[in-house]
Amino acid sequence: PLVLGIETSCDETGIGIVRGRTLLSNTIASSMDEHARYGGVVPEVAARAHLEALQPSIEAALAESGVALADLDAVAVTSGPGLAGALMVGVGAAKALAVSLEKPLYAVNHLVGHIAADILDDQAPPLEYPTVALLVSGGHTSLLLVRDLTTDVELLGETMDDAAGEAFDKVARLLGLPYPGGPEIDRAAASGDNTAIPFPRGLSRASDMAGHRYDFSFSGLKTAVARWVELREAAGEQVPIADVAASFREAVVDVLVTKALAACRDYGVPRLLLGGGVIANRRLREVALERAAAEGVTVRIPPLSLCTDNGAMIAALTSELIMAGRAPSTLEFGADSTLPVTEIQVAESA
Ligand code: ATP
Ligand code: MG
Ligand code: FE
Repeated sequence: PLVLGIETSCDETGIGIVRGRTLLSNTIASSMDEHARYGGVVPEVAARAHLEALQPSIEAALAESGVALADLDAVAVTSGPGLAGALMVGVGAAKALAVSLEKPLYAVNHLVGHIAADILDDQAPPLEYPTVALLVSGGHTSLLLVRDLTTDVELLGETMDDAAGEAFDKVARLLGLPYPGGPEIDRAAASGDNTAIPFPRGLSRASDMAGHRYDFSFSGLKTAVARWVELREAAGEQVPIADVAASFREAVVDVLVTKALAACRDYGVPRLLLGGGVIANRRLREVALERAAAEGVTVRIPPLSLCTDNGAMIAALTSELIMAGRAPSTLEFGADSTLPVTEIQVAESA
């Protein structure tokens, strides 16, 4: 099927067009620069930026793929989770497009979309089930067990406070580095010693591993970094930014990889899929590949343009749903900022 996907859950306006499992276009407009001076995404600013970017993005995606609106088999949109106002803009646009074109409309889950992005990676062999998936971005840190992309995605664990990307952004800010913090910390860490400071690994004690085996917590780590820096500053010492960045990054990466591989081991699943914007982190990819190999686990990492938020992954998930025989959504759905990952498609018609 030929599907156009609309993604507006956070700060990227993503329009993607896919035919079956083939990517035809993937247009991404980000309002990240507008959020930079606030140190994080401002919901109202993001929503307005989506409103302005949607029409030109749709036109660009159609032009790039040489597809006409009339040729589409379906329109797809992210219904949640994400920022309510931002989601609403995409949902409204998708409904308008589907109704005016008389095309079926599919409302789908953003997190499951991140997994579907992998299907568009034409360099990789087909996705095998079951697979463990680790999704890490500015808004999410989730560990999932995927038995089937269209019918069975289970949430094993998630962050109890900050998302991993959010932790990078906050720690960068307290080190005086600009937003977004991930790439800045990566750069600063390159010349640092990642064993210099023993920052805490959240929810990793034996007692935590009983109740929160697959859950994450990064706010304690952020506080530990803040306290460490404050103490140096109070003593009039220079803060070794590179060492702090490298040690902080190591703490985040260590926990993410340790818990993802624990899930692989516990469920007897020798496959791990990575997704989300934090996958851009070099050290994360390096440690994941290294430790997974030692445990006989195969790691899949889609190209970065498909890891960050985009519309192609939403179209790809919908293409899979159509191929699996699923009916379109009714027009009754809305934006659901807390849509659970188990709801792969919203409001499927009877
Ligand atoms: P969502 O949570 O809905 O997926 P988002 O816009 O918050 O959306 P992404 O755009 O996927 O998330 O990713 C942005 C986040 O990734 C930011 O928090 C940013 O700091 C982080 N990030 C980007 N590059 C790196 C890097 N090299 N290392 C660590 N974090 C990074
Ligand atoms: Mg983003
Ligand atoms: Fe996302």
